[in-house]
Amino acid sequence: MPRSEAASPNSLDPQDWSSVRALGHRMLDDMFDYLEHIRERPVWQSMPGAVRASFRDPLPLGPSELNAVYREFLRNVLPYSNGNVHPAFMGWVQGGGSAVGMLAEMLAAGLNANLGGRDHAGIEVERQIVHWMRRLFGFPAAASGLFVTGTSMANLIAVLVARDVALGFKIRRSGISACVPKLKAYASMASHVSLRRALDFCGLGSDTLRLVPVNSQHRINLAALRHMIDADRNAGYSPFLLVGTAGTVDTGAIDDLDGLAVIASEAGMWLHVDGAYGALGILAPAIAPRLAGIQAADSLAFDFHKWGQVPYEAGFVLVRDGELHRQAFASPAAYLEREARGLAAGSPWPCDFGPDLSRGFRALKTWFTLKAYGLQALGESIARTCELAHYLEQRIAESSELELLAPVSLNIVCFRFRCQNPDRVNARLVVDLQESGVAAPSTTRINGELAIRAAIVNHRTARSDIDALINATLATGRTLAASREDPELEAIYRD
Ligand SMILES: *Cc1c(COP(=O)(O)O)cnc(C)c1O
Repeated sequence: MPRSEAASPNSLDPQDWSSVRALGHRMLDDMFDYLEHIRERPVWQSMPGAVRASFRDPLPLGPSELNAVYREFLRNVLPYSNGNVHPAFMGWVQGGGSAVGMLAEMLAAGLNANLGGRDHAGIEVERQIVHWMRRLFGFPAAASGLFVTGTSMANLIAVLVARDVALGFKIRRSGISACVPKLKAYASMASHVSLRRALDFCGLGSDTLRLVPVNSQHRINLAALRHMIDADRNAGYSPFLLVGTAGTVDTGAIDDLDGLAVIASEAGMWLHVDGAYGALGILAPAIAPRLAGIQAADSLAFDFHKWGQVPYEAGFVLVRDGELHRQAFASPAAYLEREARGLAAGSPWPCDFGPDLSRGFRALKTWFTLKAYGLQALGESIARTCELAHYLEQRIAESSELELLAPVSLNIVCFRFRCQNPDRVNARLVVDLQESGVAAPSTTRINGELAIRAAIVNHRTARSDIDALINATLATGRTLAASREDPELEAIYRD
């Protein structure tokens, strides 16, 4: 029945909806302008001291005009954001977001949906994406799926399920100390640090993870892996988990997932794939065949917020045997009783598959993104980032002042400016580039040597951004190499 009574006098709803409405429309327009004209801004700028100091203001006891708070946002927050929306942002591995995702976030916040469970449309939206991802990655109908913050959390969930399967679900009560576990896990030396952390968080300790050497393509060395597994078995350890990486964070290498699936099956190990950014390469016809074997994984972690361009955050985990996944997390509680009808229907709930009870509606921005763009366009934007990486590779090859430090497998290019003391000069060069606002690559180490790392993830990035990166790298590199009189640079050259 519609209600006609007046609003609660203590409600936080506006007294005057028309002014909030007008301001809200302006905010929306401002953010559209921000996205439309993002190229006119520096990629990133350091926050001035006075602005930083404004974030040390005391707790606000009384109210402020919403307009004033918004002006403060425009002045102190918006200009000093991370920069990953900008087409010239190439640091780390970060997605660019989209107008569609932004709107969906607003709708989700309006609904204020809690996706922990219960029977409502949000749960169906998330289930639809679970279903779609099963299909996309060739997982069976019994596979479960869950939105999480990011692949770090998705990796942790997968490691926990694998641990519980290896040691028995009883350890959820008894703890692992009773088992004196001698478990060992394996991933390549190029695997992400989140795996080591996951083993730490789940009580097995990060030393449980064996880092397997990689070949010249930065892919896991299968012969070395077999050798390590055999040696560990002979030493009395139980190999329980094998992790393949689909798109390493340093160079974009994709492990031989088919080969890993064979080894995992022979050794009776859980196969997990960390496909944080690379798994969605399955949407690009040129990349998909290189992911062969992904369908054989026991679990798969990936992010919609990287190559999928969904706004932060939208990590995802798929587990082949959904029942094992549920058994690793479900915990009965009187206040979470399930029913056949009513709001408490529809068990199992997302909270039965992960550590969170209250959960936001990450599924909605993903649902909007997948539907509004379609898989084909998303795949094309992924393919284009790889083409741009090869264009960058070619520009590097054409310059005698630059050198490539790792093969370009997907969308990540590791290179450096040739000079004396290359580590120090290139580290400084990257900071200078970031501070210039022209381009924002980051750094990593390849075989111990510091590399400028350009990860092209953003759908907005164009050839002109690659050209700008090259030109700025050469100009900055030459300046750094030439100006040894500068006392600050002197320090760089004094080894
Ligand atoms: C980004 C990344 C992660 C971590 O994912 P988050 O979403 O940042 O938690 C893990 N593994 C790989 C290979 C990555 O690229």
